[in-house]
Amino acid sequence: MRIHPTVIVRIRCAISNCYLVIGERPLLVDTGAPGDLRRILRALSAHQIEPGRLSLILLTHGHSDHAGCTAELKRRSQAPVALHAADVPLAQAGRNGVLAPTSPLARLARPFVDEPFEPFVPDLAFHDGFDLAPYGVRGRVLATPGHTPGSASVVLASGEALIGDVLRGSLVVPNAARQHFFCGDPELNLNSIARLTREGLLRCHPGLFGSFPGSALPRFMTPIGEVMDLSEQPAPF
Ligand SMILES: [Zn+2]
Repeated sequence: MRIHPTVIVRIRCAISNCYLVIGERPLLVDTGAPGDLRRILRALSAHQIEPGRLSLILLTHGHSDHAGCTAELKRRSQAPVALHAADVPLAQAGRNGVLAPTSPLARLARPFVDEPFEPFVPDLAFHDGFDLAPYGVRGRVLATPGHTPGSASVVLASGEALIGDVLRGSLVVPNAARQHFFCGDPELNLNSIARLTREGLLRCHPGLFGSFPGSALPRFMTPIGEVMDLSEQPAPF
């Protein structure tokens, strides 16, 4: 059987990243902020992908800088939209809900990133272990709550992962991971980071700034930055 290599294309939007994941079929992970539509359509076009060829629009969570163009992209592509069930209320309201800052800087930035978006109803409200094989990509979606109740991460068979806002990259330091500016439930987020760590990931592609190696995850697993003993083996794919 011929295994199709999976290609990850980062689409830099006004605030956050979207990703085009191209396997046997292409799927789009996240849809940017309201106003990012042209950027996303340009990226699709650069890879000769008509919107109608997208097998799925998958959202890592229901914030406006990740779900902002979902309604318009669904109209153009007719692709089904998938979102974790716990973030469906955000999508239906077209609002971020509570953005809890993790630093004084984030508190200052909050008014500038907290914008409403066109509401929508997802076609698929998944929970955990959502299999992407029917959509042409070898991978699955894990529930990684904390940033929002319905935050989720795409874990590809290649060992790469698209982790939404579980952590962010650094704007200035290549390959560095940082705590995200906002986190609804820090304790839950630590559990999600631990879960991703157990996956033995090679590379993490965050929703904000650049990617970093999976080996950067463990130092975020405790509130004081201690590295924990990881004797538990990664779950089989
Ligand atoms: Zn977010």
